[in-house]
Amino acid sequence: MLSQFEPSLSSPGLRSETGADTAPLSVHPKVFRDELARAAEWVADYLEQLPEQPVTRPMPEAHRRALAAGSLPDDGQDLAGLLDFVRESVAPYPTGNGHPAFFAWINSPPSQPGVIAELLACAVNATCGMGEHALMDLERGVVRDLAVLAGLSATAGGVLTSGGSMANLLCLATARQWFLQRLGATDGLAYDQAHARLVAYHSDQAHMSVAKAAAVIGLPAWRLRSVPTTYDRRMDLAALRAAVDRDRAAGLLPFCVVSNLGTTASGAIDTPAPITDLCREHGMWHHADGAWGGLGALLPELAAAYQGIAELDSLTIDPHKALSVPVGCGAALVTDPEALRAAFAFRASYLDGDQEWPWLSEYTIELTRPGTRALTLWATLRHLGRSGVTALLTHYQDLARHLRNRIHAHPELQLCTSGPLPVVCFRLATPEDGTASAFHAAVATRLQQRGHAYLATVEHRGETVLRACICNHLTTTADLDTLLREVLIAAEELGPLVPGRTAR
Ligand SMILES: *Cc1c(COP(=O)(O)O)cnc(C)c1O
Repeated sequence: MLSQFEPSLSSPGLRSETGADTAPLSVHPKVFRDELARAAEWVADYLEQLPEQPVTRPMPEAHRRALAAGSLPDDGQDLAGLLDFVRESVAPYPTGNGHPAFFAWINSPPSQPGVIAELLACAVNATCGMGEHALMDLERGVVRDLAVLAGLSATAGGVLTSGGSMANLLCLATARQWFLQRLGATDGLAYDQAHARLVAYHSDQAHMSVAKAAAVIGLPAWRLRSVPTTYDRRMDLAALRAAVDRDRAAGLLPFCVVSNLGTTASGAIDTPAPITDLCREHGMWHHADGAWGGLGALLPELAAAYQGIAELDSLTIDPHKALSVPVGCGAALVTDPEALRAAFAFRASYLDGDQEWPWLSEYTIELTRPGTRALTLWATLRHLGRSGVTALLTHYQDLARHLRNRIHAHPELQLCTSGPLPVVCFRLATPEDGTASAFHAAVATRLQQRGHAYLATVEHRGETVLRACICNHLTTTADLDTLLREVLIAAEELGPLVPGRTAR
């Protein structure tokens, strides 16, 4: 039997060598090493076997309730139980985005370099908001790499964020500060009076996080204009110009246009140059939301659509989308990083940073910030290299083309949109009589339940249609064929149930 002063291999409460004190969080070094190795083995097996598993599994109701109820016991438990818990209670019920036949939303699987980097960065556990340390410098560098890949100017910088929503928020707040500074209205009555007249513009295809960001910076809904789009889902420039003119004539203060480099619903691109011209003409900031399409200028086939990207004021990119960096990595990129700093540098006596190398907390809302974002992004980019990034994006374009061709050629399927980014919206050849929306929703649900593939729906011209996003590096044309087969099987199974459709 172990005495009180001998290291325990099982009790979580006892420290090893000294043994005199009990440190509640300490783990015996050998136990830690063994569990770490076991976890690493499990991760490798899990990722390797994932494509053979169902894309998702329905969660038993009792299991959901048990997880959501909380279950903290009074006594601490063995480290060994952690992996068992993940294996039995968590891993069997993923979102599905690790699977090559997952096409819902815009979620990718984690890159292998990213998975390893996440663990390593956790161990280093630097906070990328303060202090002088390597991970913060690495973040500065990798942000620059990302900006250069996107085609921004050489001066660009920025910060990593939790995702695209946070990046859009940072950039909108920056646009507002930049505008008010130029008016000399950053405080006092001047601020109140100017702020009450600020107007921003986004297209009717904008991601909802733009409206959320506008609300958070205090812009009421009526002063966030939704500009109509043309048949191809791009912002209607004439309508934008008319809206700006109207607002100026009414004494309002247009300060920012948010365009899309890859609309979420259908993959459309607002070419930056003409929108930037309009912004310059009226002293406005041009922010582009390129959460998942922000790197498309790397592809020769798309470069023309990105004309003028270097002149953007700011750009959102989500490395956790197109680049498969593990979830929790977005980026707010700004052509003049000092503008970002002007919005977020607040000083305090207990935070005395180096003014030559401003801490990254001066460029964002967060103070204590994870270093995982920087290292996972760096590891993924380093593994790919510039040519690898291009090859990855090309792969997605090729897969989308294959899927569109298959849909186009199939008598029971109809293509609704044509990108140009790799989102494919389509419908079943049912009458457009109001029953199709419910039918498509039911087909998506049935397909999800069958577990061989996964896709979601989206609204297209007032109708709910099927939507497949391609951003999984594991996906092959065989997975796309599986998807279409599953759509047709689900439709066949449901056909007789839907009013207006008869069984074939
Ligand atoms: C996904 C997405 C966002 C939001 O990004 P999160 O990382 O989910 O917060 C913003 N804009 C566009 C265009 C997107 O596709």
